Amino acid sequence: MKTKIIFATGNANKMREIREILGEDNYDIKSMKEAGIDCDIVEDGSTFEENSLIKARAISEYAKDAIILADDSGLEIDALNKEPGIYSARYMGEDTSYDIKNANLIERLDGVKKEDRGARFVCAVSAVFPDGKEECVRGTIEGYIGYEPMGTNGFGYDPIFYLWDKDVSTASISPEEKNAISHRGKALRMIKEEIVKHENISC
Ligand code: IMP
Repeated sequence: MKTKIIFATGNANKMREIREILGEDNYDIKSMKEAGIDCDIVEDGSTFEENSLIKARAISEYAKDAIILADDSGLEIDALNKEPGIYSARYMGEDTSYDIKNANLIERLDGVKKEDRGARFVCAVSAVFPDGKEECVRGTIEGYIGYEPMGTNGFGYDPIFYLWDKDVSTASISPEEKNAISHRGKALRMIKEEIVKHENISC
């Protein structure tokens, strides 16, 4: 029988990525919506890890027989004291366009040299297992904030997040290339290891 997994997201791209990484031979992977779960969760933690765990724990109340996965991610800019951090989605307001958010961040870094423009995308993924055990992992990708937006792939802060070794933004590379090196890809592969370990112990 396949192991049931519910991923606490409504984002179709994240669902595709988790299905690709875990594979569907052994796992029956559903989004919250597909599992018929609809609830508002207040993400009031102070770290990516706390917020992902808050989400996973809340969903686990609705589905005791499944492994619940939840993620939380964002952009940390060193020269801005790690802003926007856990507030990445809410930075300048949820409804503000990323053209405006990205232009604002570039403006705030006016005069900052390339070597001091370091930044990273962070992704924490938490798992709550049916036996109550919890795991949390963190994936990161290092880069810097460019001097202007570049590229049309990706979403959010991708146009201003540049890779040190390529000097192009993550909005300029293909989705496959990005998944192979991204914070989320790394975190999902790490949580897969935890799921496999947990299954080997419990059977
Ligand atoms: P979430 O936790 O995945 O919903 O991400 C929160 C916010 O972080 C997003 O709304 C984006 O602003 C930002 N973010 C996270 N991952 C990425 C990424 O891969 N590219 C660009 N922005 C990202």
